[in-house]
Amino acid sequence: MLRLSGSGVGGGIAIGRARVLEVASRDVPRRRIEPADIEAEQLRLSQAVSQVKAELAALVEGLPQGAPTEAAALLEVHAMILDDPALSGAARASIVDHLWNAEWAMSAQAGHLAAQFEVLDDAYLRERGRDVQQVADRVMRALAGLGGPLADGSEPVIFVAEDIAPADMLTMRCALGFAIDLGGTTSHSAILARSMNVPAVLGLGAARMQIQDDDWVILDGDAGVVIVAPTSAALADYHSRQAAGVRERAKLRALTGVAAVTRDGQAISLQINIERPDEAREAAESGAEGVGLFRSEFLFMNRAELPGEDEQFEAYREVVQALKGRPVTIRTIDIGADKTLNSGVAPPASTANPALGRRAIRYSLAHPGVFLAQLRAILRAAACGPVRLLVPMIAHHHEVDSLMTLLARAREDLRAARRAFDPALPIGAMIEVPAAALCAGYFARRLDFLSIGTTDLIQYTLAIDRVDHEVAPLYDPFHPAVLQLVAGTIRAAREAGRPVSVCGELAGDWHATALLLGMGLTEFSMQPASLLRVKREILQADTRWLSRRVSRIVRGNDPVRVAAALERLARGGPPGLG
Ligand code: PEP
Ligand code: MG
Repeated sequence: MLRLSGSGVGGGIAIGRARVLEVASRDVPRRRIEPADIEAEQLRLSQAVSQVKAELAALVEGLPQGAPTEAAALLEVHAMILDDPALSGAARASIVDHLWNAEWAMSAQAGHLAAQFEVLDDAYLRERGRDVQQVADRVMRALAGLGGPLADGSEPVIFVAEDIAPADMLTMRCALGFAIDLGGTTSHSAILARSMNVPAVLGLGAARMQIQDDDWVILDGDAGVVIVAPTSAALADYHSRQAAGVRERAKLRALTGVAAVTRDGQAISLQINIERPDEAREAAESGAEGVGLFRSEFLFMNRAELPGEDEQFEAYREVVQALKGRPVTIRTIDIGADKTLNSGVAPPASTANPALGRRAIRYSLAHPGVFLAQLRAILRAAACGPVRLLVPMIAHHHEVDSLMTLLARAREDLRAARRAFDPALPIGAMIEVPAAALCAGYFARRLDFLSIGTTDLIQYTLAIDRVDHEVAPLYDPFHPAVLQLVAGTIRAAREAGRPVSVCGELAGDWHATALLLGMGLTEFSMQPASLLRVKREILQADTRWLSRRVSRIVRGNDPVRVAAALERLARGGPPGLG
């Protein structure tokens, strides 16, 4: 039995025989051609490109009803890459310039482009290099006379490959699962596997070399584990886990349209966090009540120049329109610490101790020109639907003063330019610094709402760098100090009559749902995958019972006793709870 691990992208457990796929680009036939053959070689390449174009178009055409909504979009991305002069055009030029055969020219150009993506910091953009490689692989197959599907898609097997393009994945209609050596959770293949609801593990490294056709394989897409040639005990164990997982997911799916109301009738707002405008549709489809956190800094990262006011406005409007009347909370940029701009684009954030340096609102206030453009863009987007503006890492009263001055200036600019905007745009603060949590009442009174960023609040309270794996075991969301700060912030906001939400990772952790409800929280914002699991906790909860229990727990400062009380809270429940 061999156990391999990678990045799981969900979908549960698959058990089946392996089907190992060949890589078209592995043995690229390389030869120099005669000048007299240039035209014929270019024609071969053009024909292969046209064939792939036709294959992709046929795949789009033939998408069955009920195919994942991402499918057509992903195929179109590949068609665009194919058309991009930087790929096929440059390959054609290499045939002339270097007298390379078509395969050599295509693989060299794809490798060159993929290498440019490879050095980018952002994992999502790095994955786009895989898309280029996948398109080139398809052209290579066509050049080798191997057009059409990569595998017989009617086989109920676990596909094992170095890489699988989304277009190929779509033809593997009966796949039980995918074990892939390259890529990560943000690759398009991962996105597609997730929306096909097929378990997949990516980034396995060398699974293709260690698994053979017809080997028995267990693939756990939740844990990111692949077990090759399992023992009969492992098989029996995973069979029962698989059956439990299937029952669990079906039950959760049935909750999609169910209102999130506790047993004692308390309505809870469940919203989602997004990083890119194209994720907004997921919010609309997931049954979420809105976007509780749009991390706008991702519009600014990994690019050669900052987005201007108009570009930002378009991006924010796209989200607002996709939400069709549901609220969108746009956070101003949180640049600094682990989120940096490309060098040369704008003055860098502090580097000595970046998490404690000129990050988030501190960065924005130090660059008023950049901040004003963003404020104007958000004010304009708010004229298109319900928008709230959220400011990260507030800790000082003068930061609120400066924010208000700049907002007034942004409104004046828009009036002078005769632009439509919402003058009553609600303004909120993220509570993620212990100082702000302890003075939450002040910020609640000065602003329209609060949102607790628990991930940073835990980092700063416990002095644990959230991205340093060496101190990760000390990162404890249930430390009494953290609980006191979160509960105190919720209480302060309620006393000031202001809405308060949690948008940090804790909101999506279903182990914390009862605790947060007991603190009086009624607004949660989280990654979409956690929404239904959290909703189930809400449906089973009784907030009156929880509030009595939790108010006692959060008064405690003995970590051992608090942990024991939380354990009892998780096990117990009000009378009559089945
Ligand atoms: C947080 O800190 O909890 C939060 C939501 O902000 P981010 O994760 O973007 O820092
Ligand atoms: Mg934060």
